[in-house]
Amino acid sequence: MAAELDQSKKVADRYLKKEVLGEGTYGVVYRAIDTKTGQVVAIKKIRIGKQKEGVNFTALREIKLLKELKDPNIIELIDAFPHKGNLHLVFEFMETDLEAVIRDRNIFLSPADIKSYLQMTLKGLAVCHKKWVLHRDMKPNNLLIGSNGQLKLADFGLARIFGSPDRRFTHQVFARWYRSPELLFGTKQYGPSVDVWAAGCIFAELLLRRPFLQGQSDIDQLGKIFTAFGTPTTAQWQDMLFLPDYVEYQYAPAPPLRSLFPMASDDALDLLAKMFIYDPKNRITVQQALDHRYFTSAPFPTVPEKLPRPAPKQESKASGLEGPTVLSPPRKSRRVMPEPEGFEGNVHHSNQANEVKPGDTSRSGPMSLDFSVFAARPPNRPTIKSADRSHLKRKLDLEFQHPE
Ligand code: ADP
Repeated sequence: MAAELDQSKKVADRYLKKEVLGEGTYGVVYRAIDTKTGQVVAIKKIRIGKQKEGVNFTALREIKLLKELKDPNIIELIDAFPHKGNLHLVFEFMETDLEAVIRDRNIFLSPADIKSYLQMTLKGLAVCHKKWVLHRDMKPNNLLIGSNGQLKLADFGLARIFGSPDRRFTHQVFARWYRSPELLFGTKQYGPSVDVWAAGCIFAELLLRRPFLQGQSDIDQLGKIFTAFGTPTTAQWQDMLFLPDYVEYQYAPAPPLRSLFPMASDDALDLLAKMFIYDPKNRITVQQALDHRYFTSAPFPTVPEKLPRPAPKQESKASGLEGPTVLSPPRKSRRVMPEPEGFEGNVHHSNQANEVKPGDTSRSGPMSLDFSVFAARPPNRPTIKSADRSHLKRKLDLEFQHPE
């Protein structure tokens, strides 16, 4: 125990801090032991010193609300306390996350496995939306997976409490890929439908085994969206014209969705299309998505315990006995871009074609290169029509000043 105290730091008397698990949007995450219960936990240390307004009472009240959000598909917030100018949020410890599953070339995801992961994602979302809590930062590495295969949503409500994640941070580059068009057009009023769009992107990523729409800037992100689903018309989405950052894009028709996901079932495609409806008012709700026939038709979702998960690769450095090993590698090497050709690369590949079966080493390409960020050849997609709008220029200047 004395040796343990040497290499660990006690936090607020109760938690024994172990190694750093990673750095996230709001701060560093540590593995720790709850000395009261012996439970392994993950502590998220949020820098409040640097926050413009600090953590006010509203934030603390909202955190209390999050503590009350208990569901098998939502990560449990066990404790929250301020310590040395930081706010510490204590969560149950999770073995891996959906990004690691999607990325692992040794994992074959069957249609039933995909259905199960999506269903758990939507179930967690549904509970939160019922309580009027939005996520706003849905992405595969925020979907944590426990040792029993249960998927749980993490970071719920943090965007609302601590402000929108600062997209200038390098690691936030991936979050853009899950942003809905209304957020990209700068809407100030948004609802649960932003999480549905992101869940649609995650569904697409499960099918394709790589991020679906990999924009390099907000403007590029919208271009990628419009290439996939066609430039929205005012008939489809009237309110779009009044959004603060609206810019007109050249009209491009939508290719058949089937051409983007050739091997997806009809039910999967139907649900996917409804999650990607442009007008947030018409987009399917999480509950409607859960009631969609995709979930009641065969194949039925795989039971969580039987879902494929990454094989443990390394022992925890701190101790081999104290809990599961964290499987996620450092953030910078966490993305796999198997095909560097850009957007068009999605078009010709089915989910089946992109899925790698165990033992298949023929497709083992670079594992850590993010071609979407460094792509040399921009894909062919709708361009902005009126480039002289001052707010657009401001946006471009900002993006130029803060290349991600
Ligand atoms: P982001 O803000 O980018 O979503 P997080 O702050 O959620 O990142 O997480 C940072 C790192 O800590 C990630 O590598 C994540 O896998 C890990 N992590 C976060 N929460 C947990 C948890 N409850 N159990 C285990 N690891 C976690």
